[in-house]
Amino acid sequence: MITLRKNIAEMAGYVPGFQPEDVASYIKLNTNENAYPPSPQVIEAIVREAGEGLRRYPDATSRLAREEAGKLYGFDPSWIVMGNGSDEVLNNLIRAFASEGDEIAYVHPSYSYYGTLAEIQGARVRTFELTEQFEPEGIPDGYQGRVFFLTNPNAPLGFTYTQRYIAELAGRLSGVLVIDETYADFAGENSLELVRSLENVVVTRTFSKSYALAGMRVGMAIARPEVIAALNKIRDHYNLDRLAQAAAVAALRDQDYFLSCVAKILKARVWFCAELAKLRYHVIPSSANFVFATPPDRNGARIYQGLYERRILVRHFSDPRLSQGVRISIGTMEEMERTVQALREIGP
Ligand SMILES: *Cc1c(COP(=O)(O)O)cnc(C)c1O
Repeated sequence: MITLRKNIAEMAGYVPGFQPEDVASYIKLNTNENAYPPSPQVIEAIVREAGEGLRRYPDATSRLAREEAGKLYGFDPSWIVMGNGSDEVLNNLIRAFASEGDEIAYVHPSYSYYGTLAEIQGARVRTFELTEQFEPEGIPDGYQGRVFFLTNPNAPLGFTYTQRYIAELAGRLSGVLVIDETYADFAGENSLELVRSLENVVVTRTFSKSYALAGMRVGMAIARPEVIAALNKIRDHYNLDRLAQAAAVAALRDQDYFLSCVAKILKARVWFCAELAKLRYHVIPSSANFVFATPPDRNGARIYQGLYERRILVRHFSDPRLSQGVRISIGTMEEMERTVQALREIGP
């Protein structure tokens, strides 16, 4: 007789976006991966690292990657911990702050994986609904939840909260405010200043989207050294392998390449949003590398299906707050042109 922990037996488990086996035969706009490959310098660094030295353990603290990130963002490396994807960092934040039975919270709709991670830990989950004005509703002053996750820019809707709103929210919480800045590199603003000025603010970042390294699994948290020290106790000691560390360092060093890819994606986003408007879609102004678009008949499933039949993958959510539209990642200009052509065929 196998007896699982009750919360594990009862939980559903997270379902990640669809990754087709014959990926090359699709235009893949469903998981917000980068439209462009990683920097050639990243590939070179990985190849250089992939040798005899692999028999040695990697640096347990990802020191070079933390130093490089610290230089870029203006933090001492003691304020940074690297993770095996930002998902690992999010998990460890819950483990650091929430005991079994404690409460954590996030905004609905946003990234539901926070809830899954909390369930594994045996923490209780509370969600705060977004209003039509894109503000989470009913957060009590002095809210006691141990961790509040704010996805900024929001996923899957793409809008941003103002820094003034975020600072005000941090001041009202008794617990920690984790700002998931997965898409901040596409937004032109971020909350790193709040990490410096407010005690209870943590920012998480990932290399999966803006640095085109979803396949390498690298993320990080930026927070006060006390928080970083706690996260260091919890994580696997060799959480980033040698290849991931080499890739992260090289990616951060090649800012010219990084900025040119981001600029191309932003340009394609502007063009694509204008085309969607011509097709009478409602498009939420986006600060990310995706847009949430609603067709005039508010039938997101029909658009998902029509695109799928034309071998274009986008994301449709069955959640009643989201089922009217689709989330479309921003690809290359050519991919977006073909998507617009497909949407014209499908009809508004
Ligand atoms: C993609 C994504 C992540 C996960 O990032 P990884 O670093 O690949 O684990 C976290 N949060 C949000 C909102 C995301 O969209």
